[in-house]
Amino acid sequence: MQNNVDVIVIGSGMGGLSAALGLARAGQKVVVCERNSVAGGNCSSFPIGDYTFDVAVHQLTGVDDNGNCAQVFEDYKIKDKLKFFRIDPFVTLILPDREISLPGSYEGLEKAMIDLAPDHKKDIRRFFKTMIAWRQDILITGRIFQGKKSVENSNYGKIKLLKKLTFPFTGLFWFLNSRKTTDKLFKILTKNKNIAALFAACWPYLGLPPKKASGLWMVSCMSGLYGEHTYYPQGNSQKIADVFVSAIEENQGKVMLNSGVKEIIVKNNIAQGVVLENGQKIFAKTVISNADAIQTFTKLIDPDILPKNYMRKLSKLTPSVGPFKVFIGLDFDIAKHGFAQHEYFFYESFDFEECYEKFEKGLVPCLSAYSPTHLEPNLAPKGHSTLILTLFYPWQTERDWRSAKEQIAHEMIQLVEKKVKNLSDHIVIKKIFTPQDLNDFSLSHRGAMYGWANSPEQSLIYRLKQTTPIKNLHLSGHWTIPGTGITTAIMSGWILSKALGKKIKKKF
Ligand SMILES: Cc1cc2nc3c(=O)[nH]c(=O)nc-3n(C[C@H](O)[C@H](O)[C@H](O)COP(=O)(O)OP(=O)(O)OC[C@H]3O[C@@H](n4cnc5c(N)ncnc54)[C@H](O)[C@@H]3O)c2cc1C
Repeated sequence: MQNNVDVIVIGSGMGGLSAALGLARAGQKVVVCERNSVAGGNCSSFPIGDYTFDVAVHQLTGVDDNGNCAQVFEDYKIKDKLKFFRIDPFVTLILPDREISLPGSYEGLEKAMIDLAPDHKKDIRRFFKTMIAWRQDILITGRIFQGKKSVENSNYGKIKLLKKLTFPFTGLFWFLNSRKTTDKLFKILTKNKNIAALFAACWPYLGLPPKKASGLWMVSCMSGLYGEHTYYPQGNSQKIADVFVSAIEENQGKVMLNSGVKEIIVKNNIAQGVVLENGQKIFAKTVISNADAIQTFTKLIDPDILPKNYMRKLSKLTPSVGPFKVFIGLDFDIAKHGFAQHEYFFYESFDFEECYEKFEKGLVPCLSAYSPTHLEPNLAPKGHSTLILTLFYPWQTERDWRSAKEQIAHEMIQLVEKKVKNLSDHIVIKKIFTPQDLNDFSLSHRGAMYGWANSPEQSLIYRLKQTTPIKNLHLSGHWTIPGTGITTAIMSGWILSKALGKKIKKKF
């Protein structure tokens, strides 16, 4: 192994792999150091017996048709290597008295909402019109900050000239409202609580309920979900990471597995390389950390060398919650027994704030249940299926999820049995995965599943920048802009590689 390269990336999450591929394609000699024995971080899969499970992925946004991430795949020349199943309906809500399917497109969702509340047709139409306009504002903002050709080629290209001309005014509205929570932002649009609740019903994807989650980020995520649709990868999520790894290697890069980094070498405030767990040193002109930002600034480098105001800012940021999952292998095809869609959210009511309070108490008020074998049967033996139950907990809960984990898993299964009777009789394998397990798997601080919590003060333009006070040390992944999500992490690596690529070209 060469000990001098152009770029070292710490961590092979999609944020790291994406930055690595972008820079390898720009002619840089790149090495990715990953502590685990597989690449992909959260975007990886693992077998239990004859069943295969994803660590994280329920759905991905914008990876097909003209989605923004698809344009990044195109730019990286890997688009034809990745195939996806469209998810529609996107999700079905199960409430005590009814089920509501949320179609995976603006048009479908708008129609479903009007069918549910015909008296509020005008209100719903206005709500959607504004959402679509706001989504265009997000694309224009992205274009201004990133200046990317491939964004230009995608949805941005479809924005009408009039919208672009009026952006200075609408953009100002955004800026003025950027610190609002979802609840407050949606109140500008509608007084009808049910309309707002349906649009924000997938708040668990942000890890915070509407009164706590950033309004701007909610609009960005939900309009992405409905505007660019959602997908599940053919094969499993590992396939995406593997395609990135192969492309990095085709571009003379290297992905070193089982190669944890224990130190970033910094001299005179300039990052110069890394020291691996086994003591090996690798030197580089650029170091990119895709690892947890808290680990990066408190363990991989001496925090005393960082400016005090940067560390003060960092200490005020709050990490997101951690996942509590139950991976289940079933001896029957659950899709034929009442679980006909990819994903269901089980709710007690539309009181999402109460739901979150119950999570803080360590209870099981709601959960997501999804069965990827519905789309990809190869994840289980013929006639069998998989089911993944997910909720999330803060690190400390009143009923401690550590000691109560078997009971919690039992309650989660019971909740799903409201829809699929006798589910328990068909469980062949069951594996519980807690915030502690994610912490151990990716060294993500206290199992934070989404990087920093998606509150208004920590989202989008307020998230950590990709540049750091240490020269030549950069960040990629969900702790930095744009934020949470697999495709978002890919975008973050792409944005960084473009910015660094420009600098490299200038030097020559
Ligand atoms: C349970 C769960 C469900 C989710 N569901 C979805 C979903 O359905 N759709 C979606 O889009 N997003 C989902 N997310 C969010 C999404 O997975 C993340 O936002 C995204 O994967 C983050 O990618 P990343 O590159 O920032 O980091 P990570 O995936 O966390 O990768 C970081 C990598 O760095 C490595 N590393 C850490 N420290 C070191 C070190 N010192 N040396 C070497 N390597 C190191 C880790 O091992 C890891 O491989 C989910 C997350 C979780 C946890």
